[in-house]
Amino acid sequence: MAIGEQITELQHALPVGVTLVAVSKTHPEEAIMEAYRAGQRIFGENRPQELKVKYESLPKDIRWHMIGHLQTNKVKYIAPFVELIHSVDSDRLLEIIDREAAKNNRVIDVLFEVHVAQEETKHGWDRNELMNYVIAGECAKYTHVRFRGIMGIASLTDDQAQIRSEFTQLKTIFEQLRHYLGNSFDTLSMGMTSDYPMAIECGSTMVRIGSKIFGERNYMNK
Ligand SMILES: *Cc1c(COP(=O)(O)O)cnc(C)c1O
Repeated sequence: MAIGEQITELQHALPVGVTLVAVSKTHPEEAIMEAYRAGQRIFGENRPQELKVKYESLPKDIRWHMIGHLQTNKVKYIAPFVELIHSVDSDRLLEIIDREAAKNNRVIDVLFEVHVAQEETKHGWDRNELMNYVIAGECAKYTHVRFRGIMGIASLTDDQAQIRSEFTQLKTIFEQLRHYLGNSFDTLSMGMTSDYPMAIECGSTMVRIGSKIFGERNYMNK
């Protein structure tokens, strides 16, 4: 199916209250423009420099999300324009985002990435570590970031019960943190091509979908 048709179909299929992030990493600008012409405005990328290049040449009403692991020395590339950073995995990174946002006279929306998958390779806070951090008020000192919710990635497995259990854990952690961080903490980013229907069943408010829209990624070209 063509990119534009995939967008139209997904936009109709997603329940009200679930936002689609079209994950365009590695794909060329022309592919993004096809999705754009079908009405898509939110795009997710995982490399700061690639994000900056695409931001500079594509329409300015595109809302860019950073979804991949972010190194502190790369924050400066995206701080002037990024709409939401899904992948905040440390206090140190928050400190830098806060500083770069201040330099740009902005308040940047962020999600805490929470680690629930079995794979050790995935980034993110562990549940207890994050709860303690938030309850201790450690994050209240940052005036140029706004805490909007959490992001999580389920294990790469065919075991549906395992995936469901991980999404349910994310939903629980989200609700617990919301109690401390208030009503603007409203975003639960979970679900990708292989598991987004289940993520939605478990309470996702934002799905990040790449290959279903744009086809397979070819990392050899990068
Ligand atoms: C690449 C990526 C996605 C999209 O994955 P697909 O399986 O292609 O839908 C979603 N979230 C993150 C964090 C990613 O890195």
